[in-house]
Amino acid sequence: MRRLILSDIHANLEALEAVLRDAAGRYDEILCCGDVVGYNASPGEVVDWARAHVAHIVRGNHDRVCSHPDEWNDFNSIAWAAAVWTHGRLGPDQLAWLRALPRGPLYLDDCQLVHGSPEDEDEYLVSRFDILPMHNFLQRKICFFGHTHLQGGWMWTRGGLAELEPPRRTEAERVYELDDDGLYMINPGSVGQPRDRDPRAAYALWDAARRTIAFRRVPYDVEGAQSRILSAGLPENLAHRLALGR
Ligand code: ZN
Repeated sequence: MRRLILSDIHANLEALEAVLRDAAGRYDEILCCGDVVGYNASPGEVVDWARAHVAHIVRGNHDRVCSHPDEWNDFNSIAWAAAVWTHGRLGPDQLAWLRALPRGPLYLDDCQLVHGSPEDEDEYLVSRFDILPMHNFLQRKICFFGHTHLQGGWMWTRGGLAELEPPRRTEAERVYELDDDGLYMINPGSVGQPRDRDPRAAYALWDAARRTIAFRRVPYDVEGAQSRILSAGLPENLAHRLALGR
């Protein structure tokens, strides 16, 4: 089975379409680590696409807050403005689908999906020190996670913990062969709002038979996504940051 691994699409239709074009023919099934909506200006289109095409998904914090804006949350003013706007743009069916998304971890036969960390959907796993204790919470060989919008991965072997670097700005992909004895935490990066100073949309491909993970980056129509944000009246910062990848 070949899987397309997506996370943090955040209602960015232009980025999603570029990823799907780039990945066409290279996967059998789609997995998603959450944050389908929030920040960008195409929530209805992206929810409808995810409902129809994603095989397995966990909710992200933005999926939760955008569909439950009456509950307490810790969003900053910009994320909150986008959440309220998003809620107003979604119909009852779309909101019901978001509310029904499972909180991770979601265990499949050969991997587990979480949004933030295996312990807490809102936890950010950024550094080696964040990752180290997660070893105790892995129940599958591979755990896919998102939330940080930072592409890359980590591998435990008998030699210790090693980092899997994402593609450089001059590269379209980095491919890693999976070690039989390794345990992996893999962040495919963010489709719709990358924050690793590379504005290209990020995703990953996992080929279980060939035992490879490919981290890929693809340019997309950033200006199109930005003009949708600005004409929707969403905070300008949400448009500007897309060009910076942060
Ligand atoms: Zn996110």
